[in-house]
Parts: sequence; C-alpha cells; structure tokens
Amino acid sequence: MNIFEHQIPLEKVKFNEPLKNHTFIKIGGNADILIHPTTIDEITKIVEIANLHQLPLTVIGKGSNVIIKDGGIRGVTISLSHFNQIKVSEDSMIAQSGVDIIDVSRLALEHSLTGLEFACGIPGSTGAHFT
Ligand SMILES: Cc1cc2nc3c(=O)[nH]c(=O)nc-3n(C[C@H](O)[C@H](O)[C@H](O)COP(=O)(O)OP(=O)(O)OC[C@H]3O[C@@H](n4cnc5c(N)ncnc54)[C@H](O)[C@@H]3O)c2cc1C
Repeated sequence: MNIFEHQIPLEKVKFNEPLKNHTFIKIGGNADILIHPTTIDEITKIVEIANLHQLPLTVIGKGSNVIIKDGGIRGVTISLSHFNQIKVSEDSMIAQSGVDIIDVSRLALEHSLTGLEFACGIPGSTGAHFT
C-alpha cells in the first residue's frame, strides 16, 4: 500500500530504494521509502503522513557528506536534492534547501553579488536567504 497515493506524485516516491544511488560514496543499504519533493506543500504532506503513520523521518540532501549503513534507513527518507529553486533579486538570493552550493556561488558571480566565492568548490546542498 502506498500511503502517499493521491498526495505525492507517484514518480517522486520510491520503495526499497538503494541509497547507494543517492550518495557520493556509493555504498549502503536501502531506504524503505525515498521521496524527492519539489514543493513546500509536498514536504508538509510527507511530514504529516509520516507522523500519522508513526514512521521515522530522515532528511538527506545531495548525499555528499553521509555514509549510509548496510541496513539502510527505516521509515521515510526525504531527499531535498530536487527542492532546488533559486530566486535572485537586486542584492540578494533566496535558495531552497536542496540547491547545489556550487550553483549558488556561480549564480552570485553571474549577478555580480559578492561573498560566496569561497563556496565555488564545495560539494553538497544549501538553502538560505543570502544577503
Ligand atoms: C569534499 C568535501 C569538501 C567539503 N568542504 C566544505 C567546506 O569547505 N566548507 C563547508 O562548510 N563544508 C564543506 N563540506 C561539507 C558539505 O558542504 C556539507 O556537508 C554539505 O552541505 C552537504 O550537503 P549534502 O546536500 O550533500 O548533504 P548530505 O550529505 O545529503 O547530508 C549531510 C547531513 O545534513 C543533513 N541534511 C542534509 N540536507 C538537509 C536539510 N535540507 N535539512 C536538514 N538536514 C539536512 C543530513 O541528514 C545529514 O546529516 C565538504 C564536504 C565534502 C564531502
């Protein structure tokens, strides 16, 4: 039974998914359920449904700095790697929490915003209002 049916698009929900496919180091077991939400509404629904069914929740990003154990992760794993929109205004940027750090740094450069030069080679995701 898919407890997320009619709430989260089917293509975003994977069952018994090998997490080695979602981490840089390419080892580790499976997630019972792995979901890639792209909106705040979907994230809210996932948390509500997981709580309703008393399932543990784990959040990962791009998987650059995690080592998953062979036994995998029970319950619901949320990957925020597709929650990755960036809005740029005149003097600031708002990045959703799955944005590639390197993309943030590159976009800042394109818009002549300074301060994120140091991040141009750091792997992984970030999210913030950069001012
Ligand atoms: C080679 C290398 C160089 C690095 N250099 C630097 C550096 O110079 N400076 C620096 O600051 N960092 C550095 N880091 C750390 C790295 O930038 C951060 O760990 C990065 O943010 C991880 O992003 P990720 O999306 O891959 O997270 P993951 O590896 O997927 O997750 C890492 C941890 O963060 C948690 N997590 C991930 N996303 C979220 C979220 N949205 N909300 C809550 N929890 C979350 C996960 O549960 C996990 O515990 C480096 C890492 C590596 C591997």
